[in-house]
Amino acid sequence: MNGRDVCEFCDGEVDLRVVQTTFRYRGETIYVDSVPARVCNKCGERYFDAPVYKRLEEIARHNTAIKKTICFPLAEYNMTFA
Ligand SMILES: [Zn+2]
Repeated sequence: MNGRDVCEFCDGEVDLRVVQTTFRYRGETIYVDSVPARVCNKCGERYFDAPVYKRLEEIARHNTAIKKTICFPLAEYNMTFA
């Protein structure tokens, strides 16, 4: 996925951003903040580079150590509105 700058679904432009994302691992969903991703400006599709995906998997594998649970919408002050 390196070098991609056009969305494969809608041909929108894809920008590198830092996002909060969900990641499914062995039937469990975890939330990870501050993840670098390529995000489509048009449809919002997210692409993760292989090293990022590996890191998410690593985080998920240590999920039992995560005790912090959130149950409210999390907004970023610097968020951009598409
Ligand atoms: Zn798109």
